Amino acid sequence: MTAHDPSLGRSPGGLLGWLGFGRGHIDPSTKQEDDQPDRRENLRLRQLDEVARFLAAHQLEVNAATLTIGWNYLTGADSQLVRAIDRQVQARKQVTLEWLDEELGRNGRADEVAALADLMQRLENSIDEFGKASRDAHTATSEYHTALEGHVNELEQVTRAGEVISDLANIAKVMLRRTRDIEKQMLRSEAQTRALRRRLDEARRSAEEDHLTGLPNRRAFEAVFEEQFRQARAATEPLCLAFCDIDHFKKINDEHGHEAGDRVLKLVADSLARLSNDYCHVARHGGEEFVVLLRGETLEQARAQLDHLREQLAARRLVNRANDKPFGQVTFSAGVADVFACGDPRTALRAADMALYRAKQEGRNRVTEATAEDCLPPQLGAAA
Ligand code: GH3
Ligand code: MG
Ligand code: MG
Repeated sequence: MTAHDPSLGRSPGGLLGWLGFGRGHIDPSTKQEDDQPDRRENLRLRQLDEVARFLAAHQLEVNAATLTIGWNYLTGADSQLVRAIDRQVQARKQVTLEWLDEELGRNGRADEVAALADLMQRLENSIDEFGKASRDAHTATSEYHTALEGHVNELEQVTRAGEVISDLANIAKVMLRRTRDIEKQMLRSEAQTRALRRRLDEARRSAEEDHLTGLPNRRAFEAVFEEQFRQARAATEPLCLAFCDIDHFKKINDEHGHEAGDRVLKLVADSLARLSNDYCHVARHGGEEFVVLLRGETLEQARAQLDHLREQLAARRLVNRANDKPFGQVTFSAGVADVFACGDPRTALRAADMALYRAKQEGRNRVTEATAEDCLPPQLGAAA
């Protein structure tokens, strides 16, 4: 292996093996526990050495950004980054600055989406508060208006007290008109609040939906996954996660154009969506990749379900309706993992992804189960 070998990664036989640390890694926690200055110094040098070797192996220039990336990757601090780089390394592709920019840009967008979600939540709370204040004020104004009306009537009946009473009656009538106006405004505010609320609900739904396929998007799925994980754990039910990826999809785009590619993508999404119910959640994870979460199914049962769907799709002969040219066989590969065997959702996603990678390597159009090794967390053992 040369210093420029793009297979250099965190997995066994990659960077770590090459560094002679077995399955070791940079463990950021070790530095706090170690109180011997020499050992601490050695550890720091070793950590820096690993980051430097990572940058050198991928021919990345040394700057603050790439050092941070190296550190976050080797410590496992940024799991998205770990996953992305591992996949790049597995695919024997170079981790380049351009690719990192694109990956980090994507993460940046994820941050923006999270910030937007937070803003929407706050807006929603404000609208609810405003709506409640409007309703309360409306009720109070109505009550006040009714009381005032009673007083005006009473005043009009008192004829003997002359001018003072008549002035009071006039003032009360002005107040009555004003409260009537305020009441109308309050009604308008309430209607506006309701409309705003509806639009916000629509925006929220749209932010969680993938527009091409109509499936929940990755962000929505992550929330569902966390919730299903909690529920399945509490009910001691099995939970399985599958990553499905259309085979040679780029070829479909290349041969038939992007729009036809979109239609195929939608068709595969629709096939997978047929599995959806309260116990099965299907989402578009991105690109031509889908995730399926199956609750109450063992790994074997989940694999069998996906395999059945895979066979059904593979048996179809799809034709491009724009020009009657056959698409040929459209297939997908999948990796499926037992979430509880992996321990947590993040590890399960990674394990399913590893199994998917094997399904691709073994010839595509197949469903592969994640092994116990796929479920090993990225950081193992101690560095020192
Ligand atoms: P593999 O079997 O290894 O998965 O090969 P592949 O060609 O499916 O995978 P690759 O990652 O090389 O290409 C995926 C392609 O999917 C590239 C990208 O342009 C295309 N793609 C991603 N999202 C969309 C989309 O929304 N619409 C269309 N038409 N194409 C998309
Ligand atoms: Mg893909
Ligand atoms: Mg693909």
